[in-house]
Amino acid sequence: MSVKTSPRWIYPFANREQILYCIRCEGHLTRDEQVGVLGYTNMAAELAMMLYERYQNKVVILTNGELPEISESRKKILDLYSVEIVTEPIVGILSEGVKQLHGFTFPCHEPVNVKFALVSLGLHRVYNELARQVGARLMDEDQPAEKRHIWINHKGETSIRNLFVVGDAAKREDETVMKQVYTAQEYAVRAVDTIDSRRRRIMREEVLNK
Ligand SMILES: Cc1cc2nc3c(=O)[nH]c(=O)nc-3n(C[C@H](O)[C@H](O)[C@H](O)COP(=O)(O)OP(=O)(O)OC[C@H]3O[C@@H](n4cnc5c(N)ncnc54)[C@H](O)[C@@H]3O)c2cc1C
Repeated sequence: MSVKTSPRWIYPFANREQILYCIRCEGHLTRDEQVGVLGYTNMAAELAMMLYERYQNKVVILTNGELPEISESRKKILDLYSVEIVTEPIVGILSEGVKQLHGFTFPCHEPVNVKFALVSLGLHRVYNELARQVGARLMDEDQPAEKRHIWINHKGETSIRNLFVVGDAAKREDETVMKQVYTAQEYAVRAVDTIDSRRRRIMREEVLNK
């Protein structure tokens, strides 16, 4: 399968947890191994640093032909952590069939051996259409509309009273986005408790007013 024409080559390795998506979910698998970070931004640099700091990985950033958009201060730390940045396009993979990923090849740079690769290509989109339609407040002012998270308070309520949002689409001002199944569930419990207490308060008022 051609690396250049289709992203499908990635799926078998993702299914086998060698190409990873989430450092929080799967970072621990990489301990002491050589890891590639597929990306070119400050976020890719941050993930490379975290891998080194948390799991003592030898890390290489693979920009797949993009020019790195990494701040000088981050570049300095990457240098101190011996993180190489390979800017050539990836033209092939080193693997045993679709079973084991061993690394990547490039037009001129020598092949890079990795046991894992972490994808850091940014946010695809936030499902915020419904919230936008009713005029709920959004976060991330510097982002295009389809990438802005929906502002919620600590109960999961948006700026529109009685409209609650939980999960990946929501963001609290006082917390970084968690984007995990269990954090979505935790936010959901708070939201449902709040909705339920409001519902029961109305119920009591109605009983008293009868
Ligand atoms: C590759 C990958 C690996 C992950 N691994 C882990 C992991 O190991 N552990 C972990 O805790 N988390 C993991 N996550 C994160 C986790 O999947 C998410 O945090 C979680 O699914 C968020 O749940 P959600 O309900 O907020 O959103 P979603 O699961 O994205 O569900 C939103 C749903 O709403 C639908 N939708 C959107 N717009 C509309 C509309 N207008 N009308 C109707 N339906 C709509 C979408 O189609 C989708 O089905 C992973 C995520 C990815 C992508």
